[in-house]
Amino acid sequence: MKSRIAASTALLALALAAGLLLPPVAQGFSPADAGFSPAEEGQKPAPKAPQKIDEEYTRTIKENLQDPRITTELVDHLPASDTVPSPLKFLGRAVGAPGELTYAKDIYRYYEALAKAAPTRAKYWKVGTTEEGRDIVLLAVGSEDSIKNLDKYRDMLGELTDPRKTTEARAQQLLHTTKPIYYVISGMHSPETGGPEMLIELAYRLIVEETPFIQNIRNNVITLITPVIEVDGREKQVDTYYFNKKRAQGDARLPLMYWGKYVQHDNNRDGMGQFLKLTQTVTKETLEWHPTVIHDLHEAQTYLYSSTGTGPYNNDIDPIVVSEWWTLAQNDVMEMTKRGVPGVWTYGFYDGWVPNYMFFIAHSHNSIGRFYEVQSYGPDPYPVTPPATTTSKEWFRPNPPLPTIKWGPRNNTNIQESALLFSLSHVAKNKDLYLENYWLKAKRAVDKGKTGPTYAWVIPATQRRKADAAQAVNELRMQGLEVSKASSAFKAGNVDVKAGDYVVRGDQPFRTLADMYFSIQNYAPQNPSPYDDTGWTFQYMRDLKIVPVSEKGILDQQMTLLTADAKAPGGVEGTGNVLVVDHTGDNTVVSFRFKNKDVKMLAAEDDFEAAGHKFRAGAIIVPNADRAKLEPMLKALGLSAWAMASAPSVRTHDLDIPRIGYVHSWTRTQDEGWWRAALDTFGVPYTYFADQKLRDGNLRSKYDVIIFPHVGGSAVSQVNGMPKTGNAPLPYKKTAEFPNLAFIDSSDDIRGGMGIEGLGELMKFVQEGGTLITEGSTATIFPEYGITSGVTVEEPAQLFVRGSILRAKITDMKSPISYGYESADLPVYFNQSPVLNVGGGGFGAFGGGRGGAPGTNPNGGIGQNVTPNALPLRIQPLEADTNSAPAGGRGERPAADETAQLRQMAQQFGITIDDTRPRVVMQFSANPNDMLLSGTLLNGQFLANRAAALDSSLGKGHVVMFAIRPFWRWQTQGTYTLGFNAIMNWNDLDAGKPQPGARGTASQQP
Ligand SMILES: [Zn+2]
Repeated sequence: MKSRIAASTALLALALAAGLLLPPVAQGFSPADAGFSPAEEGQKPAPKAPQKIDEEYTRTIKENLQDPRITTELVDHLPASDTVPSPLKFLGRAVGAPGELTYAKDIYRYYEALAKAAPTRAKYWKVGTTEEGRDIVLLAVGSEDSIKNLDKYRDMLGELTDPRKTTEARAQQLLHTTKPIYYVISGMHSPETGGPEMLIELAYRLIVEETPFIQNIRNNVITLITPVIEVDGREKQVDTYYFNKKRAQGDARLPLMYWGKYVQHDNNRDGMGQFLKLTQTVTKETLEWHPTVIHDLHEAQTYLYSSTGTGPYNNDIDPIVVSEWWTLAQNDVMEMTKRGVPGVWTYGFYDGWVPNYMFFIAHSHNSIGRFYEVQSYGPDPYPVTPPATTTSKEWFRPNPPLPTIKWGPRNNTNIQESALLFSLSHVAKNKDLYLENYWLKAKRAVDKGKTGPTYAWVIPATQRRKADAAQAVNELRMQGLEVSKASSAFKAGNVDVKAGDYVVRGDQPFRTLADMYFSIQNYAPQNPSPYDDTGWTFQYMRDLKIVPVSEKGILDQQMTLLTADAKAPGGVEGTGNVLVVDHTGDNTVVSFRFKNKDVKMLAAEDDFEAAGHKFRAGAIIVPNADRAKLEPMLKALGLSAWAMASAPSVRTHDLDIPRIGYVHSWTRTQDEGWWRAALDTFGVPYTYFADQKLRDGNLRSKYDVIIFPHVGGSAVSQVNGMPKTGNAPLPYKKTAEFPNLAFIDSSDDIRGGMGIEGLGELMKFVQEGGTLITEGSTATIFPEYGITSGVTVEEPAQLFVRGSILRAKITDMKSPISYGYESADLPVYFNQSPVLNVGGGGFGAFGGGRGGAPGTNPNGGIGQNVTPNALPLRIQPLEADTNSAPAGGRGERPAADETAQLRQMAQQFGITIDDTRPRVVMQFSANPNDMLLSGTLLNGQFLANRAAALDSSLGKGHVVMFAIRPFWRWQTQGTYTLGFNAIMNWNDLDAGKPQPGARGTASQQP
């Protein structure tokens, strides 16, 4: 192996010395691209003199490489340039130097310098701004022709995007005259540091190098690079690395506390929700540039994984994409394996199912999305000794990773830069093929609308949640989906369409997006274990009506394309001093309350009829309303109100504006931000603080509501928080040296969580009349510590439900938490745990959403099931409610002395923990066979009748527990209102209870 590399390098040197033209051929193998012939516009002769090598830089490559097998002839040297600064010259160090990481701002300075030094081959500009105000940038690299005519090529790709406007003849011409765009993004997952480093060098090489291999890429592909997409996280990561370098031995190390403002790893699960700036930016660039490929660089696998996945693949991507995934990945494996580089592989790692990854933006726009998972950059060298399951020779890794190897940042650079160059080269050589496929995918998408069976989707504009419907339309439009408005009423098959209803035509180039989002998912459990969510049906998660139309005539109906944001109708009908705002479940209801903090508002406690309108419990009554002020606001929010002369006769309570505390744990800030995303968007203010501050006590004097979103882990680990390891405090503080830290919270010492003392204070807060809102893992804390009675946390090992949409039943329509919901059936997102059992239950009839006859597995349970989708699950439509007869493990438990301690504290606070059954607001379907709406589910009987949302009284206050995740990513907007209701009605949660509690009138408000 070693001698082969040496020989190839020696040959290169010899060729250069002799003034021979590259590429070198013969001797062992010839590089795949030896057969290159200049493309149409690359007719200029290759340079007469061989290009000089940057000796100093090339020396660092050799020195920093930890294992000589991890290299190729593409990256074992760096060409010299008299005009373009090398990374070493500009940044003071070569890429792959151990112990160093580069801030995004310095990568930007370098890219700017590259574009300045080589303006004919590179262009640099800003394309977006992060939540924390940092720039997101783009560098375009190509030949002189490509850069000069960048806009022309973009527009030609735009023509290929739309077969409704472009003729076949024109398309055939474009296939041969335009160039594919290969869009590389990296730095999304901030601890995965190598992609941005490698891209520093790749940009230089693509601009400067004069080998035919690179010339071919430069001439035939336009490379777009966003080196760091999660810019806020990158700067924190680099600070964190250097901070830890200065810590004394034995002291605790700082984890990367926050990445972006809202989430960590989930920034790569925002492809459908599109809440985060980075996702919005990539979508905007995709719609502008029509990239042929979007390639995202990650670091979570051994050596180099080139994406294809195990399947099941997403049901709605064009089948051509699957072949493209495999062709590109196999090309990587082949080229790297040919050069003897071990450990380049494909297949495993993830499934290819859920379209919430960033690179799936490509698939909903007829492009190719792919990613690498590279062995971590470090940046400190380390040995890699993977288990046998990673090093065995398999069909998908013919040259597997080695049992042990010395790894380091230069290995990481070499392996991913080489593979990426082979991908670029492959697309350059086959550019007509990939452009033709792009054109074909667009044509097939449009044709699907003409041949059915789904010709369009109708989103009724005046449906109950009309504000949320308009918001959904706007978010879909932002992703490039065209939405029209029906000009007049008509009937399409059995669908009644009203004038003004939104119509998503099926005959549009990006209809795949509608197919992916609006379809119902069926993830047969015989498949490999799902990598992420299995169900995401858009209209279920948003609790909206979106109706597929199987009547072709709809395409001939009069409709106008929306060219601006949709707005839900809203305002005030009638006259009188009292305004009654219907609670429709729209998320803007909470905005209306919080925008008018000083206005007295009441909530109706029952359904009622007034002014000829039927109101749902939760309707907001504004006595003595200032209509001139409120009406424009209602219009803007898409809410409807009725004015009347006097207040309707219905029981009411005051909607007291709560002071909200918001608790996060220092152990994990991954998921909690999705609550903040919703609160920030809909205008609900809160005070954000860490779990350890709960110990300070006096919570009730500061807050009325405390929100404690999902952390993950057991009740015990959540109470314990960040362990007190090491002697020195572990600060998360902003300093002159580390200015990027301490956003969005800070601490002198992040170690030590709330502990039993903090939990006691939380209990006291509730006892004194506060409302604590928990979800997911935090919902288990009070039951597990025995503070709330009547709730058992179950861990049924047989239950299999991974990020699915299930049918829940609102069992208490009078609970303020369910205000605004009209139907008892609500689709909810649930992911495996927690399973909360209130007052026993037991297991009744078996079943559980498993479709097909048992025992019909074609492989008879022996060997690998290679046709898992032949046995789909039984999925129920949401509205065909069969409602048949009801059917009926654990992590680390709190220590007995801790629960005893808590009981003692409870007594001191005057709390009696009795056996009162909590109020179950919503529970999972009683029938396991009608439970699954989208995704996957096995043994649903273990979830039947278990609580999805419950309200537990404790002292004068309440603990609201959500087993579901009402704020899951920017997707579950249909259940946001459950959380908002708990906040708005915080001191009247007993309303509608058969024997209402005494607290929570205006006079008792603090
Ligand atoms: Zn990653």
